[in-house]
Amino acid sequence: SSNFAFDAIDLATKDRDHLIHPWVDLGTVKEREPLIVAQAEGAYVYNVHGKKLLDGIGGMWCVNAGYGRDEIADAMAAQARRMAYFSPFGQIGNPPAIEFAHRLTQHTPGDLKHVFFTTGGSTAVDSALRFVSFFNNFHGRPKKKHIITREYAYHGSTYLTASVSGKPADRGNMDLETGFIHHLPAPNPYRRPEGMTMEAFCDAKVKDLEDKILELGPDNVACFIAEPLLASGGVIVPPEGYQKRTREVCRQYDVIYISDEVVTGFGRLGHIFASKNVFDIEPDIITSAKGLTSGYVPLGAMIVSDRLYSTLTDKAGRGQIFANGYTYSAHPVSCAAGMANLDIFEREDICGHVRKVGPYFREQLGTLIDLDMVGDVRGSHFMVCVECTADKEKKTVPPAEWEVGRRIFEKCQEKGLLARPMGHLVVLSPPLIVNRGQIDDAVSILRQSI
Ligand code: PLP
Repeated sequence: SSNFAFDAIDLATKDRDHLIHPWVDLGTVKEREPLIVAQAEGAYVYNVHGKKLLDGIGGMWCVNAGYGRDEIADAMAAQARRMAYFSPFGQIGNPPAIEFAHRLTQHTPGDLKHVFFTTGGSTAVDSALRFVSFFNNFHGRPKKKHIITREYAYHGSTYLTASVSGKPADRGNMDLETGFIHHLPAPNPYRRPEGMTMEAFCDAKVKDLEDKILELGPDNVACFIAEPLLASGGVIVPPEGYQKRTREVCRQYDVIYISDEVVTGFGRLGHIFASKNVFDIEPDIITSAKGLTSGYVPLGAMIVSDRLYSTLTDKAGRGQIFANGYTYSAHPVSCAAGMANLDIFEREDICGHVRKVGPYFREQLGTLIDLDMVGDVRGSHFMVCVECTADKEKKTVPPAEWEVGRRIFEKCQEKGLLARPMGHLVVLSPPLIVNRGQIDDAVSILRQSI
């Protein structure tokens, strides 16, 4: 830590006085002692005092290839020098965006061959929802406007994507209610009715979707949007077969299926995209971000099936515009980073590593279930969480649930691990390069801290 040239006190003061954080806890702004992260290498970050911490969070489910990758930094620098930016609008292209779109579609399922680059996950989902609306209007189905989503989903922080997200605490005081968005109960096996089998629970959750479509009328339903595993809602793993069966229901009623792979993509479940390889579904649209560049620079993508997209390009007349896009869509520096990231994934077989080590991680974390406070341990591969309870039998959420997560977070930090508190849950989603020894360290620290 001797080469740390940061003035921690000065930074903390400026942070409190000037920087508004996402999801800021307004009640603690004036007193907060921010964790300021200043440097990183591999699977570790260093706080502003030089303390080394194992990054159990993967930045924010996103630093999939790990920190300090010269290859990505060099690709970004080279592109910034060659041409930092040019407009992507209309008919204008740039080589990294074109090449990266082409390479991505070699990993997408089925006929998902058309890529629209955005600035992150929220704008990818927002674009997908706007695309669906455009598509239905274009084809003379203007009534098809209703969107079905789920409680505890997280799809982003624009007006529309926050509205299709389903965590009550996140929707809080912003009155984002919209009459055309419908939240189904989350397919959370841990919270299923007492005594219900997983098969019966799956039947019930699939039926929820079909019932909602029939209640609204299939002619009025535009799309169903779903994370294959719900990430920020608490690493909810739906019962086996749920993804495939809900996909079938959508096909049956001509409802577009959007698979939000912002977290589950880029190796977190052991494949570049999980939809087909893990859940055996071919969605109409996939949204991606985060691991797409391993977090080195912002980028998102909405990837649309040829079945949908070509019906537009085949029929559209000149001047018929899908008016959606950002100044920084298809940003050349971001796309150069994305390609260097994909090079690393392919060369080091990062997905293969996750498939090999993921079950060990889940198994080791599973040992925490013997702790009095731990009611559930769940997740898959590099996307896992522990749910704490006040009463294990009754599965009661602890009073002051945010205190529980916060205190475990602080204890973990003292012992050298960054874990992510989410209310009474603690989430781990480390860089995909962590090895068995680092997994053992994380689980051991979490055990002591809980
Ligand atoms: N979709 C999912 C599944 C996410 O987890 C997130 C972010 O956590 C988003 C969308 C929004 O992405 P971003 O924060 O990059 O806008």
